[in-house]
Amino acid sequence: MHLNREYVYDGRAYVLSQLFSIETVDHLIDELDTEIEAQIRTEFQMLDQEEPPEIVPGRQCAKPVVCEFFDRCNAPKPMDHISNLPGIRDRAIQKLLSLGIESIYEIPPDFPFSDRMRRACTCVQRATPWFSSELAHKLEELRYPVYFMDFETVNPAIPRFAEMRPFDVLPFQWPLHIQESRGANLRHFEFLAATDADPRRNFVEQLCPLLRESGSIVVYHKTFESERLADLAGWIPEFAPRIDQIQRRLWDLLPVVRSSVYHPEFEGSFSLKAVIPALLPELSYEGMEVADGTTAGRVWESILHGSLEGADKTRLRDALLAYCGQDTLVMVRLVERLREALLETCDCCNGHARQVCPILNVAEIGCNHCQRIEQYSRRHKYGVHPADPDVAQRDVDLY
Ligand code: SF4
Repeated sequence: MHLNREYVYDGRAYVLSQLFSIETVDHLIDELDTEIEAQIRTEFQMLDQEEPPEIVPGRQCAKPVVCEFFDRCNAPKPMDHISNLPGIRDRAIQKLLSLGIESIYEIPPDFPFSDRMRRACTCVQRATPWFSSELAHKLEELRYPVYFMDFETVNPAIPRFAEMRPFDVLPFQWPLHIQESRGANLRHFEFLAATDADPRRNFVEQLCPLLRESGSIVVYHKTFESERLADLAGWIPEFAPRIDQIQRRLWDLLPVVRSSVYHPEFEGSFSLKAVIPALLPELSYEGMEVADGTTAGRVWESILHGSLEGADKTRLRDALLAYCGQDTLVMVRLVERLREALLETCDCCNGHARQVCPILNVAEIGCNHCQRIEQYSRRHKYGVHPADPDVAQRDVDLY
């Protein structure tokens, strides 16, 4: 017996015969019978041994479910471990291990990697962050006023409100930072469902007017917010046209970071929880009582349905608001940080632009007058500045 994902709750009484599905699996059991017998025999043999078998941890440790021995077999790896390259597959890991290579520093330059992995490898080996020359174009797509938005959700097994199915995602909180123009002060708004009544209408009703009619709406991993908006449009059809407009304005920061930035401390991950400590260490989530989305959902449930007293509820509510506000604030600061990386000021010529060195494929400081990085790189030749010979002369003097 299992929950039926197709069942739609009408908001009044659960129809148990539809909420649950009963499936006959006798034929599957029959098919597995001989396999299971052999498997159990093998497992008893293994349990008879003095020592556990030597198994190399891999994908099987977390898929389809996280193994109960995960922490025992998967001790934390050093930052330079080969498994910390973005998207590296088990086969490549096994191949490197068979060559006696465990550290990214030992990977030879001709080892076959995708562009992204090769770049990450180079960043770690040179201890240098990388910013693509494409980054500037991507950031130019942002249209002001810019809205930084994030949704917090839970997905209850038993549908709670009308039109919901088992495991449907229920949004309960959003923070919003608004910046009217580049460099302008931020305005912050937030919504947090305070009771166990259906939060969906208030959620969307309070959000829509704040997003007005134009400007980019920055999110991190657009699919998630877009799907939640689509759910809301299905549940509350009168908002569907407005939600459709909002979905069109979503601007995803994740693919920009994934394709145009790498930092040795990302350790192969592009999640905000990995990107922020590397690029904005002053905005770490460390020490926050609520520091991730799963905890946020659990805390919200415990405020509404737990046995907490008033003071504890207030503390956790504040922790939820602090976490959520942090999630959008870090996006604001991340965009600023990426712009700074492109416009790092050089001590010899204010206003130099940071570009990608075509030789080292790492970010270097170059002059934004001529756009020719090789002429003004600290590591390469220094030519005459075509637009401003004085600046070029100062470059030569200083280096
Ligand atoms: S964590 Fe589990 S699946 Fe992974 S190697 Fe250890 S016992 Fe096997």
